[in-house]
Amino acid sequence: MSECTLPPEGWACTRDAGHDGPCAAKPRTYAEAFDQAEEKIMHKVAEEIWRKDAARIETECKRKMSSLGKLQWTLKSLTADIKQLRFSFSSAEQNQNVRLAVTHLEDALHRINLVLE
Ligand SMILES: [Zn+2]
Repeated sequence: MSECTLPPEGWACTRDAGHDGPCAAKPRTYAEAFDQAEEKIMHKVAEEIWRKDAARIETECKRKMSSLGKLQWTLKSLTADIKQLRFSFSSAEQNQNVRLAVTHLEDALHRINLVLE
């Protein structure tokens, strides 16, 4: 009779091929069984690390998207300020408007730097 081939690699069944009921399995060698168990555990650990890393990257992407949304809003606001500044160019408040526009530009640059960090 030939050997039962049901047990996984590294394990052997002491019963004949095609036997009824469960296998009588034992490790071919304990070193081999240990190596395989270790490999399975390391695979599980690697899977877990990948899963956590994927979650971390997703969170980071969401944060960046939120920052970009804020940046977009700031640039829109800045564009409106510049339009307003153009309309009031000849008014007496010219200097104050220029200062305001510069303040907004500095704020936008600060936000851009935060996104790029
Ligand atoms: Zn068997």
